[in-house]
Amino acid sequence: MSPKLIDLNFQNEKVVMRVDFNVPLDANFEITDDSRIRAAIPSIQHILKSGGAVIIMSHLGRPKNGPEDAFSLKHITKRVSDLLSVHVEFACDCIGEEAVSKAAQLQAGSVLVLENLRFYKEETKGDIDFARKLADLGTFYVNDAFGTAHREHASTAVIAQFFPNKKSFGMLMAAEIENAEKVMKSPQRPLTAIVGGAKVSDKILIVENLLNVADNIIVGGGMAYTFFKSQGGQIGGSLCEEDRLETCVEIMKKAEAKGVKIHLPVDSIMADAFKADAQTANAPSDAISDNWMGLDIGAEAISHFKSILLNSKTILWNGPMGVFEMEAFEKGTKAVAEAVAEATKMGAFSLIGGGDSAAAVYKFGYENSVSYVSTGGGALLEYFEGKELPGIAAINR
Ligand code: AMP
Repeated sequence: MSPKLIDLNFQNEKVVMRVDFNVPLDANFEITDDSRIRAAIPSIQHILKSGGAVIIMSHLGRPKNGPEDAFSLKHITKRVSDLLSVHVEFACDCIGEEAVSKAAQLQAGSVLVLENLRFYKEETKGDIDFARKLADLGTFYVNDAFGTAHREHASTAVIAQFFPNKKSFGMLMAAEIENAEKVMKSPQRPLTAIVGGAKVSDKILIVENLLNVADNIIVGGGMAYTFFKSQGGQIGGSLCEEDRLETCVEIMKKAEAKGVKIHLPVDSIMADAFKADAQTANAPSDAISDNWMGLDIGAEAISHFKSILLNSKTILWNGPMGVFEMEAFEKGTKAVAEAVAEATKMGAFSLIGGGDSAAAVYKFGYENSVSYVSTGGGALLEYFEGKELPGIAAINR
């Protein structure tokens, strides 16, 4: 394990720091949500205060073919400067003459933002020469971009080899890893994983891996109906992945063999159409007639899930229980968020996976009532699938 950034002294160091400043911009290139920038500020401040300088590397958006003004990191430089209360320099390229000379002139306590890394295909290809050029700009490497930790890109993984004893996780990345490990490596039991969302196929690897660690797995959302169908249930027009029926049967068998309890929602709120003002009714989840579809878990399922959660000591949540974007089908997700918050109050550790589950927790106002809301969507999923994340491995190596 690498040393903690907070324990390091950066006197005379020029830190090349990979961050995730992939923030949303409006039509006037104004930042509409700067939380990703804010998340990196503590690490940058520590480096500056302990005598170092910071060279910031990030991607922004999905540029297709080289530089595009819409994806320039110049749009975010002022916000970085405002949040740090220091002057921030910008280099119109992430490698090349200007980047080299601005990096060389950078004084202790100062910050340089490099242009979008993804203006070069070499970045996502993990090109070693490109990584070396980035590395040559500084003397120390910090990775604080958990959102891209599952990518073996030049700036997220390949670059680390040029800093054998001079590399570290940023504070955000360290917190993400520490919290994920609380679930995966040293959970207080019982450990309950809640898995929801649309598709079995997206969550299959995570469920299979969780069978090795969890005591309970609660399955909700659209993916639950493929499970019901695989057990012979009637699910009407609910979401179903025919090619995953066998997988569901296998998972149920494996769970039984391993002594892991899989909990499916006994009842559902069904609708006669996929729309906010559809007609709704309650039904057992395995007896939904043809013209109806399950769009949320029902009242009985809510109280069943709640009792499991209130008896859990560690909770991992990834994926909503229903179509929570529509008020008519938000109740299940909201009730689960409330139960996770209540369990947390009673001493459980709760980790909310990024993406839709994080969005739901914010929507219902429980973000401060759970233990940790992860910022990583794909990266967190891959971690819980049991994969080694290149961005983590490169620092630990
Ligand atoms: P995912 O990205 O796989 O976590 O899926 C999240 C999406 O699944 C959300 O947009 C939900 O609206 C959707 N979802 C959840 N439950 C259902 C359901 N019963 N039927 C259709 N879509 C659902």
